[in-house]
Amino acid sequence: MSRDPKYDILFEPLKIGPVTAPNRFYQVPHCCGMGYMRPQMMASMRGIKAEGGWGVVCTEYCSIHPSSDDMPFPHASIWDKGDIKNLRLMTDAVHAHGSLAGIELWHGGQSSANLYTRRQAISASSRPNDALVGMPLQTQAMTKDDIAELRKWHRAAAQRAIEAGFDIVYVYTNHGYLLNNFLSAEWNRRDDEYGGSPANRVRLIREIIEDTLEVVSGRCAVAVRYSIPAVPHQDPDDLVGMFSQIAELPDLWDITVTDYALEMGTARFVQEASNQLAVAKIKSLTSKPVVSVGRFTSPDTMLKQITSGTQDFIGAARPSIADPFLPNKIKHGRPDDIRECIGCNVCYAHDSLNAPIRCTQNPTMGEEWRRGWHPERIAKKHADESVLVIGSGPAGLEAACALGQRGYAVILAEAERELGGRINQESSLPGMSEVARVRDWRLGQLAKMDNVDIYPSSLLDAEAILELSPTHVFVATGAHWRTDGVGRHSASPFDGFQDHTVVSVEDIMCGEIPDGRAIVYDDDHYCMGNLLALKLRQCAIAVTLITPASLVGGWHSYTDDQPAVMRQLIDAGIDIVCNRGLLSWQDATAQLECVFTGSVSTIEAEYLVPVTSRIANDSLWHALQPFAERFKTLQRIGDCAAPGLIAHAVYAGHQAARELGATPSQPDDNRRERKVTELKIVTP
Ligand code: ADP
Ligand code: SF4
Repeated sequence: MSRDPKYDILFEPLKIGPVTAPNRFYQVPHCCGMGYMRPQMMASMRGIKAEGGWGVVCTEYCSIHPSSDDMPFPHASIWDKGDIKNLRLMTDAVHAHGSLAGIELWHGGQSSANLYTRRQAISASSRPNDALVGMPLQTQAMTKDDIAELRKWHRAAAQRAIEAGFDIVYVYTNHGYLLNNFLSAEWNRRDDEYGGSPANRVRLIREIIEDTLEVVSGRCAVAVRYSIPAVPHQDPDDLVGMFSQIAELPDLWDITVTDYALEMGTARFVQEASNQLAVAKIKSLTSKPVVSVGRFTSPDTMLKQITSGTQDFIGAARPSIADPFLPNKIKHGRPDDIRECIGCNVCYAHDSLNAPIRCTQNPTMGEEWRRGWHPERIAKKHADESVLVIGSGPAGLEAACALGQRGYAVILAEAERELGGRINQESSLPGMSEVARVRDWRLGQLAKMDNVDIYPSSLLDAEAILELSPTHVFVATGAHWRTDGVGRHSASPFDGFQDHTVVSVEDIMCGEIPDGRAIVYDDDHYCMGNLLALKLRQCAIAVTLITPASLVGGWHSYTDDQPAVMRQLIDAGIDIVCNRGLLSWQDATAQLECVFTGSVSTIEAEYLVPVTSRIANDSLWHALQPFAERFKTLQRIGDCAAPGLIAHAVYAGHQAARELGATPSQPDDNRRERKVTELKIVTP
């Protein structure tokens, strides 16, 4: 198919100093949980992005020298020949598709604790170390000799970057890392020529940009990653003023905003193209090309960025994770096939957990090397056999899609009139509408497949399934929330759980909301408890949110929106009670115990909504067990096997579809990256 010519401008080659990007699609540096420890995994993942049409593909943050490591977080490094060799894998993979490879040279300053190298962390001034919460360690204030050393390290790393085959070398000045420590008036308390006035605070950045330009000397481009406030007039550090002083130095500006919660916000709080005021401001101050992110998934929004002169490249991290083939889909006139990011930050969460990234929308993300999964290609069916998928939640929809793509004759049966399972309720919660993209993209794909028959309003029982007699059966019948309070804090039901004033999560999600004050008891610790509390507040219900944890929605710390969630709850007027476990619910009174002392207190309300854990809807799967030999496959998938995130359900559906009839020669999850040659023990 050919594209709409209005998008042609997105596919224009564009010069970045001495190199030329083949188009305007630019995967900015983003962490991926792979780094120096998983170079093959990283190279395969980045290579796929280039194959999908991203004209520039960058690394994650890449340490220039052992004076900065980010353990326990996975980062890349370019310290030595070994790193050059490993990173060469990535540049080769990117170049194989005609794209440019960029490297983000990084020194952590006060935001790395050097837990591996055990070197003293350095920064502009001595500061409490910010690498981990409450890290009982301060940084060492850099002397002028240290600054001279840093410049040498950066130059040497730029030289190694060229040897590794990179086309774009970054100077990284934001996100709280070392060069950012110098820019900040708050952190930089020096009284020499590197501190004080804006001209002094930007001096080191200027010197490093000049050093890098000198080292690369036209062999590759120099990009600078730089942040300014999202609201341009709120600029206490005079970041815009400092920018003006170096605006013409590098070959490209990669612009972000100072508030990471805005730059990287979840869809619940931040919409597409939200930083564009700030980016347009910067663009007006330089003649050099500008790239910036904005969780762009709409080709028309991308187009507007370019035609309005806001930026020159369409920067992306998450949209390129959710759909590595986004550029090619626009290029080939298939914008409807773009698998749009839902802004859940499950990708980021896993980097924070020191694990390779994964994606709710794209189950192949991170599995390119380990399992050999390609986001657009999948093995053809192993035989002319029929498959029945029961349930159209994320697991069933993804399984049906991938099985359909493989060419099987698929029947997808759903009890409800609407397809989508949990997505239908969860996407109706406050701020969660983008979750519907998980359902809608899959329904869009299925609509194009004539080998998949979909039967809504079809509640199947064992008898009906035996009558259908498919060769393979995947049971994706989901899970439901418990109302008895069993969860992490307590493995037994609370006293009084059978009272009619105990209301289920599903009831609230479906809008069956009783009058009167409510208690939401959250022992789940992710979004459901706080979303239900907000939904109730929107219906003018007074709410007390009680949790046995010391932090509300603790898992939001990994998705980086926990403070925003707290702000939202406080602004909504929700009473919050932490560190209390639920003992009983009687006479409209919740009896609570302090998780530390066991002391008992009470809170009154008209009804109680326990959000603790879920029960798999696996009765159909159990009912089929006596007949298991009639099917070649009888498998539970998704929440019906083990309740989890939507990301888990999508992955399970995809995995089941990939593994149907797979031969043992195909890559499996035993593939690990580790050094297995030249091992030796060193005796000190
Ligand atoms: P998952 O997250 O694992 O995909 P969901 O709970 O989102 O699970 O979806 C499960 C879907 O299965 C729901 O839409 C539900 O209506 C459907 N379902 C459950 N039992 C049956 C059944 N016996 N026959 C057909 N559909 C069913
Ligand atoms: Fe987007 Fe969520 Fe995928 Fe991250 S995990 S790329 S936020 S859909």
